[in-house]
Amino acid sequence: MTGAPKAAIRVEELAKDYRMGDNVVHALAGVSFEIKYGELVAVMGPSGSGKSTLMNIVGGLDRPSSGRYFCNDENVGAMDEGALARFRNRTIGFVFQQFNLLPRLQAWENVELPLVYAESPPAERKEKAHELLARVGLADRADHRPTQLSGGQQQRVAIARALACDPTILLADEPTGALDTATGEDVLGLFNELNRSGLTILMVTHDEEVAAFARRVMRFRDGALISDEAVRQAA
Ligand code: ADP
Ligand code: MG
Repeated sequence: MTGAPKAAIRVEELAKDYRMGDNVVHALAGVSFEIKYGELVAVMGPSGSGKSTLMNIVGGLDRPSSGRYFCNDENVGAMDEGALARFRNRTIGFVFQQFNLLPRLQAWENVELPLVYAESPPAERKEKAHELLARVGLADRADHRPTQLSGGQQQRVAIARALACDPTILLADEPTGALDTATGEDVLGLFNELNRSGLTILMVTHDEEVAAFARRVMRFRDGALISDEAVRQAA
């Protein structure tokens, strides 16, 4: 051991190419940055600028074409498929625009799923799922199925699910993109609250208001990180 890791996330010259026939799309064109524990970072940029490509690599859903990626000082790029699957399950929480809940399962069963994969005992899973639903304000909806919940409630369930294995970092790719403005603000308030209690969050958003409440904004264009700025907080 060399002491506590310095950064939650460190990427160096990260690149991802997609080959489309004779063309190559440089979805990420050599990106480097570090995210410290406890940060809340907004990722912004026009459609097609590489935001989702970055999130998918950081989340272990995809691998870069070149470059290096460390999480908790672990070399994610060097992980084999089994280690990468464990990494996705335990170290990363992922929240998607479309919630991606399983429609046949009750809210608490959706939340416990990552713990099922992590092979934790049923009684513990159930207790943790209910705890997490209470934390996102849905204690009284634990037995509801996704279709019995509003969009904002479904996204809260998805956030609870993302937290099931106590991830190092929560990734959210346009988490309010499918919600109306008021509901979206509600969900953003929850992210803010989770960050204040210490969770590290990296969030893709088009919403300049999120950028204002994040402590840092990274802007992408054509696969490149074109600005990376600390945001001065209003008092
Ligand atoms: P964003 O999330 O910022 O809208 P993406 O990361 O989804 O951007 O896409 C970045 C670029 O990579 C775009 O030009 C997109 O068309 C391309 N791209 C993304 N995924 C694939 C894929 N699976 N195959 C081919 N091209 C892709
Ligand atoms: Mg995207």
